[in-house]
Amino acid sequence: MGNRTFAMIKPDAVESGKWGKIIDHIIAEDYKILGVKMQRMSEAEARAFYAVHKERPFYEELVEFMSSGPSVLLVLEKADAVPAWRDTIGATDPAEAAAGTIRAKFAENKGRNAVHGSDSDENAQKEIAFFFSEAELILNQ
Ligand code: UDP
Ligand code: MG
Repeated sequence: MGNRTFAMIKPDAVESGKWGKIIDHIIAEDYKILGVKMQRMSEAEARAFYAVHKERPFYEELVEFMSSGPSVLLVLEKADAVPAWRDTIGATDPAEAAAGTIRAKFAENKGRNAVHGSDSDENAQKEIAFFFSEAELILNQ
């Protein structure tokens, strides 16, 4: 497994101010932050980023939400980063997320669920490249 994943703190958690506590959680779990930026996605970017879900009933609502305000975009490094980060964030629906996970602690509901995590190494690479150039990443820390 690879050692990088792509994470986002979504507009709900930026707007509510919970994003600082989420950054604390990330650091406390020993992820190395290789890249970080705050950016409001355009509607076109949100559509492209979530294109895999375009046939799903929640797609339009998801695009509207993800382009509604700034997100914090993160490249995280850790051993087996993709499954590690999925464990750290918990299930998509916070009602089903394990206690202590970021979604259990900070998500509002299944749509406005505070954070994103890549679901495979291949998608992690694509998602990192969607927002970051390799030169923007802080390596050899
Ligand atoms: N989503 C939603 N309703 C659903 C399923 C997903 O609004 O029934 C949103 C939610 O914000 C989720 C995103 O679409 O995080 C992507 O869905 P996915 O199934 O990939 O969940 P994730 O990988 O984020 O846990
Ligand atoms: Mg997903």
